[in-house]
Amino acid sequence: MPDVRFDIYYRYDDLARILRGYAEERPDLVRIRSIGKSYEGRDVWLLTITHFGDTEKEVDRERPALWVDGNIHASEVSGSSACLYLIHALVNGYGKDADITRCLDTRAFYVCPRVNPDGAEWALADRPKIIRSSTRPYPYDEEPLGGLVQEDVDGDGRMLWMRIPDPDGPWKVSEQEPRLMVRREPAETGGRYYRLLPEGRLEDYDGALINIQPRKEGLDLNRNFPAKWRQEHEQRGAGPYPTSEPEVRNLVDFIAQHPNITGGVAFHTYSGVLLRPFSDQPDDEFVPEDLWTYQKIGEKGKEITGYPHASVFHDFKYYPKEVMTGAFDDWIFGHFGVFGWTVELWSPQRQAGIEDYKFIEWDREHPFEDDLKLLRWSDEKLGGRGYVDWYEFEHPQLGRIELGGRDAMYAFRNPPPDLLEREISPFPRWLTWHLLISPLLELHEATARPLGEGRYLVRVVVRNSGWLPTYVTKNALNRKLVRGVVCEIELPDGASLETGRQREEIGHLEGRAYKPSAPSYASDTTEDRAKVEWVVSAPEGGTARITARHERAGVVRAEVELSP
Ligand SMILES: [Zn+2]
Repeated sequence: MPDVRFDIYYRYDDLARILRGYAEERPDLVRIRSIGKSYEGRDVWLLTITHFGDTEKEVDRERPALWVDGNIHASEVSGSSACLYLIHALVNGYGKDADITRCLDTRAFYVCPRVNPDGAEWALADRPKIIRSSTRPYPYDEEPLGGLVQEDVDGDGRMLWMRIPDPDGPWKVSEQEPRLMVRREPAETGGRYYRLLPEGRLEDYDGALINIQPRKEGLDLNRNFPAKWRQEHEQRGAGPYPTSEPEVRNLVDFIAQHPNITGGVAFHTYSGVLLRPFSDQPDDEFVPEDLWTYQKIGEKGKEITGYPHASVFHDFKYYPKEVMTGAFDDWIFGHFGVFGWTVELWSPQRQAGIEDYKFIEWDREHPFEDDLKLLRWSDEKLGGRGYVDWYEFEHPQLGRIELGGRDAMYAFRNPPPDLLEREISPFPRWLTWHLLISPLLELHEATARPLGEGRYLVRVVVRNSGWLPTYVTKNALNRKLVRGVVCEIELPDGASLETGRQREEIGHLEGRAYKPSAPSYASDTTEDRAKVEWVVSAPEGGTARITARHERAGVVRAEVELSP
């Protein structure tokens, strides 16, 4: 097993070495490949994890699979850690943990720990530079001029806040806790007030006006997916056209070429929530079965990880009247018809004992009591690293100011390294469960009954032993995104079909996902099975080979002897 630690955020070369290490040491379980290059030309690594045994074949393609990725947003590096932890847990658990063993014997994981290696490399640099996602300049390939540029201006490796005295400032020092700032009362005047701005340098400062410099790197890769993609004036950062960015195209191409994928999970930070579609419309727009199934998968996630599950539209809007589009989870559900999730790792609020808070809405409005809890948490659990007390600093443009406040990168946006493993360790169980509920095609019967005079009735019955139906979502069924089971017969020399065709499509197989909690009239019929029959003329006997395959449920093979 490669040397790996979960209290470190790995840079690209180290992460790549660890990923290769798994493939080199466990070729029976892990294969590594590049699914394409990033904008700056780095390989984007993908691990396929299934029980290959000693075969050279791509057996993963014949098994239901789960897609898992992380770190499409540059600074959300704990997403990569969650993927790495999954890989580690699967490789270690195979042969020991019954669920993991059964999962890898029958199914496959595709894990892409770092979708956006360029942006992550900037975030993890010794003097970090924080951007939303890709390092490609957008929309203009020019250096922006003027304004506040966020950077570690005192070179201590942290990016904090600048507290600037200003009679027009909206903040004042809290009387209750002098390290915290509170809003100035609406009609209040005559006190000592401040502006709070991100730590950084000011370009072309005129002594009066401060604006934030627009970022040269204005893309948001998680707005560049084809689902309901919208242009810049409606969706900031979406790029010039859907999948215009190599990081997104790599991923979309791979998933489109792997119709065996039955679900997808993308790791982000932060908020501590399992997010699901839709981003742009209410739950009423779901086919009911798909919403019910989403809720059941989410409940299992909550039970295992402690994270609640929520709809982006209902619970994760940045502004009540604005929706977000072009995201991964909406794309994989909408265009591919499988269950997709955006996991926002880590909740500083919950860590601090703030329960049932409103994710993004909390930033706009929350009680001061919450700030006190967060400060206490930083003092007691983080050794003061989460909220730095204000200290004087001679700023090159602003003169004497103070630096301090929240350390966003390692207390809020990502877990502090020493708390990382505890945060990500529950996820492999949920992801394994998520894959184990996939449809799975199995052989129920394959027989040849002699009918006399060299004729045989060949009968094949297949079944779906998974919880989900073979089509996975009603959305996929209604949009005809997935084909039914295809059954093919290969005859021995000298034989011919008297009835039936060589290739028969026998439709989809139901699962157990929609079974009611009280038995009802027709709920337990055998819709999870399907049958095909051929009459074969084989005067010289021989062996008929049968293959049944379903894009999402896998492949089964059988041989039947044609002998009187
Ligand atoms: Zn994100």
